[in-house]
Amino acid sequence: EVTAAYKPTVYLLDDFHPIAVKRAKALFNLITPTHPDWQSWRENAEFLLVKGSTLTASDIKAASKLRAIGKQGVGIDKIDAQACKDAGVAIINTPGVNATAVAELVLTLTMTLGLIGMGNIGKRVAEIFQGAFGSSIVAYDPFMPADVWDDLPHTRISTPAEVIEAADVLSLHVPLTASTRDMLTYKEKSMMRPEAIIIDAARGGIVNEADLCRALSDGLIWGAGLDCHEEEPPTKARYAALWEHPRMVSTPHIGAATNQTQMETAVAAVERLHAHTGE
Ligand code: NAD
Repeated sequence: EVTAAYKPTVYLLDDFHPIAVKRAKALFNLITPTHPDWQSWRENAEFLLVKGSTLTASDIKAASKLRAIGKQGVGIDKIDAQACKDAGVAIINTPGVNATAVAELVLTLTMTLGLIGMGNIGKRVAEIFQGAFGSSIVAYDPFMPADVWDDLPHTRISTPAEVIEAADVLSLHVPLTASTRDMLTYKEKSMMRPEAIIIDAARGGIVNEADLCRALSDGLIWGAGLDCHEEEPPTKARYAALWEHPRMVSTPHIGAATNQTQMETAVAAVERLHAHTGE
């Protein structure tokens, strides 16, 4: 007698690229809860796949069977990581898969550069800038060993203050955490070159938005490019003052939104969750 292979039951809470959904259906018993049963995953799910859903501490506590969350993309700021840790729920994200797409978005907004955060995206931005323009780069990332930049010869590892003071273009590539929130307030902007540009394609709230508006109006910096906003999708009610500024460019969190990258990150989330279920 042939027994069907065991398929873990996985709840898919967000829209994934169709190729990733097809792959997930092959690997898992895939459930896509819809209204009014959307919350049913909290009672039943052992595994989740998400992209943009918020998972609070009370969601995690209520989901007593939950073992792992597969997250398309790298940012896990909408998932209560501490609650997951306490409950022994693994978070499996897809770092690196979207680095090229986000690096290319930054390239469209800038020419030369200082970087805070030198993980997959920061490093890729540095590589592209050096390859395209031979830029010299000042960078800060206290958590990476210095030798990870050996193949980027014109990159100087520096202090945050030096990066902020030296950059013509300051691009942020850190996760949103309690320690990176409001990393760039009015005070830091007052240390910057008046011709400098700030780019945030990481997360809204790393650059303090009210202070950014004031710094642009007061001429502390020349311009800004934001792919990420504290309120998403960004509304005119909240962002009119920033959007009306002539040297401000705003895009609606499209850094990783290419069709290819959406397909690759979603498939990576499915594959990595599947590898975890077999551990
Ligand atoms: P990554 O984990 O590879 O790199 C993040 C780096 O930030 C790490 O090297 C870490 O050491 C560093 N870091 C953390 N705290 C820091 C601090 N206080 N000062 C300096 N460095 C610090 O992640 P990644 O793939 O490079 O992505 C970076 C961020 O970009 C993600 O967390 C996510 O929020 C954002 N992102 C945005 C989009 C988009 O569509 N715009 C897409 C993907 C990722």
